[in-house]
Amino acid sequence: MSLAKVLASIDESELVTLTRELIRIPSVVRPGDPSATEAAVAGHVRAWLTKEGFDIEVQDVAPGRPNVLASLGDRSNGKSLLLEGHTDVVTEGNPAEWSHPPFDADLVDGRIYGRGSADMKSGLAAAMVAAAAIKRAGVSLAGRLVVGALVDEEGDMIGAKHLVTTPIGRELTAAIICEPEENELCLEQRGVVWARVTARGRMAHGAMPEAGVNPITALAEVVRGAKPLERRLRAICERSRYLKPPTVTPTIMRAPSHGVPQSNVIPSAAEATLDIRLTPGPDEAAIRAAVDDAVAAAAKAVPGITIEWRPVNGFRLATKVERAEPLVTAMRKAFRKAAGRTPKFGGVPGSTDGTILRSALGIPIVTCGPGNRLIPHQVDEYVEVREMVEAARVFAASALEYLK
Ligand SMILES: [Zn+2]
Repeated sequence: MSLAKVLASIDESELVTLTRELIRIPSVVRPGDPSATEAAVAGHVRAWLTKEGFDIEVQDVAPGRPNVLASLGDRSNGKSLLLEGHTDVVTEGNPAEWSHPPFDADLVDGRIYGRGSADMKSGLAAAMVAAAAIKRAGVSLAGRLVVGALVDEEGDMIGAKHLVTTPIGRELTAAIICEPEENELCLEQRGVVWARVTARGRMAHGAMPEAGVNPITALAEVVRGAKPLERRLRAICERSRYLKPPTVTPTIMRAPSHGVPQSNVIPSAAEATLDIRLTPGPDEAAIRAAVDDAVAAAAKAVPGITIEWRPVNGFRLATKVERAEPLVTAMRKAFRKAAGRTPKFGGVPGSTDGTILRSALGIPIVTCGPGNRLIPHQVDEYVEVREMVEAARVFAASALEYLK
């Protein structure tokens, strides 16, 4: 039977080797440094997939920042499934704080250590190995399977935003986002809005505050209003079985927002950012209205002040996929066969490239991949080999089941 044949051609040592190769190519994006992009690791992904005989499409999203897409089969029956990963990783921080060097990909006691090991070079490698196993087994799919290695997930998600404007992207009918979720089938993802609030007053001498209007006092009101705003959002968002409730967290405070800070100068403008996390339910207009009201209340508390806000990077609303979706039923069935256990359902605390795919294309997404969900962006990031192998098996079986 074809599933057994495909699963038999998933080789643990090959998956481990590929993951370690990807970790050893650092892909921390440092704006202004043209050598610090995803280009080298994308090149390795491309070479590996080319060697396996896939049809390859490279999309130049920005200079030195290519999306790599490999496909198998055709979409004559209308179905096209994406196994999605991203090639960028976040900064390693201070390498001295790591007990395993961040880009050595040490393999110790069944774990691979390194920046990007969980988030998400192991997930990407598992997707590549799963697709290669299907290809090698010579199974013909009723539809198209696409492996996508996208750029800039940790930034503005320009890779995903680009993909949804291209033919291969627009033709997708479902996607598995291979992010570290302990191989749970995550049907919901929290949304995020970064509200950049700017307060403008009147510059004055610190010794004569009555001559000015202090924007910092107004921002203090904005911060004080974070809790009430959070309560309002919790009231209008759905309660989720899988997600923590909405939160509103001040993350950046800047005053003055321009020019040199001086102890005896009331600045003319100051800026704060609220990191707003959402569960499914309200649309953009409802979120906007809630933030508008919070900002207006803060402005009212400080006479003479004007406050405005804008969503940095737009509105990334929460996503939710129903259990009855064909992708979910296929994965549920495939999971049992490939992993030998019943899948756990879950939710993603943050947003991912899947957020863009879901909102732009309206297709169902399930987030599922190897790695402890709390470990990304920490020092001594690691991934369990056992989970990687299970993920590769689940991805392959899910593709066979969905494209049946
Ligand atoms: Zn990630």
